[in-house]
Amino acid sequence: MPQARRSPLPPGSTIGVFGSGQLGRMLAMEARRMGYRLHTYSPESNSPTGQIADLESAAAYDDRAAVRAFAKGVDALTFEFENVPSLVAEIAAEEGVPVRPSGTILHAAQNRRREKSMLRQAGLPVTPFHFVKNASELEEAVQEIGCPAILKTAAFGYDGKGQTRIEHGVSLSSAWQLLGGQPCVLEAHVDFERELSMVAARGVYGDFAAYPLVENRHVNHILDTTIAPAEVEPTVAVEAERLARRLCEHLDLVGVLCIEFFLLPKSRVDGDEQSSGSAATGRLLINEIAPRPHNSGHWTIEGAVTSQFEQQLRTVSGLAPGSTEILRPVAMLNLLGDLWHNGEPDWQALLTVPGAKLHLYGKHEPRPGRKMGHLTVTAETTEAALETGLAARAALRRQ
Ligand code: AMP
Repeated sequence: MPQARRSPLPPGSTIGVFGSGQLGRMLAMEARRMGYRLHTYSPESNSPTGQIADLESAAAYDDRAAVRAFAKGVDALTFEFENVPSLVAEIAAEEGVPVRPSGTILHAAQNRRREKSMLRQAGLPVTPFHFVKNASELEEAVQEIGCPAILKTAAFGYDGKGQTRIEHGVSLSSAWQLLGGQPCVLEAHVDFERELSMVAARGVYGDFAAYPLVENRHVNHILDTTIAPAEVEPTVAVEAERLARRLCEHLDLVGVLCIEFFLLPKSRVDGDEQSSGSAATGRLLINEIAPRPHNSGHWTIEGAVTSQFEQQLRTVSGLAPGSTEILRPVAMLNLLGDLWHNGEPDWQALLTVPGAKLHLYGKHEPRPGRKMGHLTVTAETTEAALETGLAARAALRRQ
């Protein structure tokens, strides 16, 4: 039966999620609230998702028998990270269980080359790039693209892992070796004004809903803070939503998707482009996409009518997306394992800050750079929310 003809899954149905990190955990919390059952599947046990889910299956992603048994026990399947082998989507299809978003989307998002080619094909603006398979192709690509540039592994990169910057005079063979001599994408380094992102959702009947555009700051290539809404000219927000809608339609997405953008300074965009479209045309480049809830959408839990995790649950269940209206200006700040450097953070100090909402992911080992939790602050303005959030986070650190 085509997916669009199935009736929505009511509360009481079971959603299966591949992956067991914090994104699955926050999905499981929404599932519990709304009376759905959630099963998680990953190689881990006592995982962030498994601590909340109704059932946790711990087995390898390529364990056919285990994946099949898991698929038989659920009404719909989704994933909370992209690097799940496409085998899982094949088995789900054999078992007649809908996978939302589809295995095709998962496949495209697993690899920077496929992702960028898909974006180009959809007529969406991406950072100039070249695909490189060996060190000599890297040399040619650097000549074409120029320096500085960023070399990124085509597969399995996140949070700045699997990336290296190429400056004039660096040894290209060392850069190639540093990333393990595997297929890569060489991207022009973008002198962006700001980094922005937008989370959007699309239901089985094609109903589309986008959250307001947000602004992200990264530290060491890892998301540090998000403020919502982004303070940008209205034309930029309208253009971002147009691009998000076009992408969701091109992919025939059923689920949630995040697009990360680089906003170019006005001066970088030539006059022709600006006069032929809106003032924002040509100012937004897509850095990457994720066909799932995203760290830059965590603010929606306290800051929007419908959280991005409820949105995932709704769309995966065949329901229409809920309202994406923002309730108040909001700031989200990540809590990385580095905060544990001198012992357990001072939770008391954080919890005395009115309006600061703590989220911890139930991870056992606080390693540097590891996302252990986040905090959210809502306020009259995004500046006030961020200021309070930064002070609350600083108070956590033991001296
Ligand atoms: P990514 O894993 O590709 O999202 O990269 C992580 C972060 O590195 C981005 O959010 C940017 O801050 C930075 N970055 C990645 N690619 C580029 C680029 N082509 N130009 C400038 N900065 C970049």
